[in-house]
Amino acid sequence: MPLFCLFLILFLTGCEYGQSTLQFAGKTMGTTYSVVLVPQSLSGRQVDPVTLQAEVDRELGRISKLMSTYDESSQLSQLNAHPVGKYFTVHPDLYHVLQASQELARLSDGAMDVTVGSLVDLWGFGPGYADSKPPSESEISLARGNAGYQALDIDVENYRVRRRKAFHVDLSSIAKGFAVDQIRDLLRRRGHDDFLVEIGGELFASGRIKSDRQWQVAIEAPEADNRSIQTTLPLQDMAMATSGDYRNYFEWNGKRYSHTIDPRSGYPVDHQLVSVTVIAASAMYADGWATTISVLGLEQGMQLANAQQLAVLAMIETASGLETIRSEKLAAYTGY
Ligand code: ADP
Ligand code: MG
Repeated sequence: MPLFCLFLILFLTGCEYGQSTLQFAGKTMGTTYSVVLVPQSLSGRQVDPVTLQAEVDRELGRISKLMSTYDESSQLSQLNAHPVGKYFTVHPDLYHVLQASQELARLSDGAMDVTVGSLVDLWGFGPGYADSKPPSESEISLARGNAGYQALDIDVENYRVRRRKAFHVDLSSIAKGFAVDQIRDLLRRRGHDDFLVEIGGELFASGRIKSDRQWQVAIEAPEADNRSIQTTLPLQDMAMATSGDYRNYFEWNGKRYSHTIDPRSGYPVDHQLVSVTVIAASAMYADGWATTISVLGLEQGMQLANAQQLAVLAMIETASGLETIRSEKLAAYTGY
């Protein structure tokens, strides 16, 4: 999560130009969020940060009540507890995120697969699990046999969903991005054009920090115990999401196990690709794609990124250190 660096950059930029910004932060979806509004967005109006933050908190609470796997009463948890084979009516927002997830699952041939929830739990990355040690092969093959995006049916006309196998749906790879888009829409409805909203490192940069200057957003170096900036990118009316295995993992017998699971093997991904950043118009898709490419690995991931014309920055670990690779679209976007 490039949260710290993000703030570092914002503060530098703000101070450098003598700007006062309105900022607030809080907790949501098992992580933190932050919002920064710049002065031109506030011109001529009194903005009460307490009221605005209360509105943001309410919206984030509403989304968590739909999509969190950590809340047993969320609508997603209810879907996961609903009898296998029986349809369950969901809120249009949950439906929308499930549809997007299934689209990415089809495009990636199941690398992205939100039915991976039971495997995520098994590997200790789900709610209420603390034992950090690999599960047995038989447990893995059982959970893998009980998963698969093809067994998640979406009834397009009636906002109904059903699981045809006993898997848990896990939207952790995409729900934060969706929430970022929702907060962006909320702030725009309140008349703000120039702001930055970030949840757990997934973010949207709206407008500009100054009329003659774009937002500059930092991407963190993929290191577990050190927080430094690898590179910065300009962003205007664009979202950015990063997936990486460098912070959320556990170690067992000297081997690192990532929280990104390859649904096709049932095992955490294990390749040289350590960080994937995607820039897109929608934070939900940026978030989902970042996870998708992380699962696919460098070669297949960049192939799909180029075929889909995605702006992607990937970092790989090589014998001689860290290497940065850009998709065609990103190279065109940044001009290098
Ligand atoms: P982060 O939560 O660090 O932003 P991601 O957006 O990449 O990272 O989401 C990773 C989470 O998604 C995992 O913690 C897990 O809950 C879930 N997940 C793991 N593997 C997959 C997968 N192949 N497809 C969909 N979701 C996954
Ligand atoms: Mg993601």
